[in-house]
Amino acid sequence: MSTPAKPVPRATAESRPFWDAAQQQKLLLQHCRSCGKFWFPPSARCHHCLSGDFAWEEVSGEGRIYSFVVYHRLYHPAFEQDLPYVVALVELHEGPRLLTNIIGTPWQDIRCDQPVRVVFEADARGTTLPQFTVTGE
Ligand SMILES: [Zn+2]
Repeated sequence: MSTPAKPVPRATAESRPFWDAAQQQKLLLQHCRSCGKFWFPPSARCHHCLSGDFAWEEVSGEGRIYSFVVYHRLYHPAFEQDLPYVVALVELHEGPRLLTNIIGTPWQDIRCDQPVRVVFEADARGTTLPQFTVTGE
């Protein structure tokens, strides 16, 4: 029996620029022209001041692990080869927090507040997701 494919994000009108940028290995977030803050997840209005005046801007891709969990149990058959894997809330230097995976480090070595940076890896179907890897302390 073949392994089923992993579910992939479905872009909406509001999130399409984020996913299109990820395919180009860039991390773009919405930046408010009124209050100057970034926000995530994508939406039509600023999460801080409700302004609809914003631009998509490339961010550093650097941040720290705000929190994380280690999945030891299989919840979807497509992830069987990944067990155990880390799902983390990464706080970017620009402020927003992204729910993502930490890859390239054994789960036993993951800690809150570790510095991380974004990496982009295409899956077998060519879908590229922003994930993060631990950088030097
Ligand atoms: Zn704003």
